[in-house]
Amino acid sequence: MSPEERCPECGAPVAGQRQGCQELFDTCLAREFSDYRYARAHRLSVDAYSLQHPSDYMRSAQSFAAHLTGMYAAFERSDWPEVNQAVQAWLSGPQTVQRLIHPSPLQRGALTILHVHNASEPDEHVARVREWAQSVWAAWQSYDHIAAAWVHDATVALRAARNR
Ligand SMILES: [Zn+2]
Repeated sequence: MSPEERCPECGAPVAGQRQGCQELFDTCLAREFSDYRYARAHRLSVDAYSLQHPSDYMRSAQSFAAHLTGMYAAFERSDWPEVNQAVQAWLSGPQTVQRLIHPSPLQRGALTILHVHNASEPDEHVARVREWAQSVWAAWQSYDHIAAAWVHDATVALRAARNR
């Protein structure tokens, strides 16, 4: 494998570059879809992979906000299921979120999907998703207050809709 054989987005050292990286992710997703022991890592896997590949997975302002707030909620909110629900409702409504500039390629976390792909059993998979996502979130740390502001708006909007 030549030194160029790495994903140009996340830096995973993988033959086939971006396509090879995608295949690793698809294999991990297949585990999560086919076995409930892996499934609890699913939301975090999708958010982490999206934050490392924003030009594919965060092209719209809505998807940008959804994955960013998903990651924020996973690490910084104990009420993450409610947060994710509120954001989902908010993003399907008439809000206007702006898509922001994302971190540069290869600056989106020290670990990659390869770390998860190498897990040999469910508990290891789930733990590795968490480690990988933590490294991605560290790279996106400066977006923390933006995610918090969006979650705030989403929560306020949901409360207003319930009181209507
Ligand atoms: Zn990649």
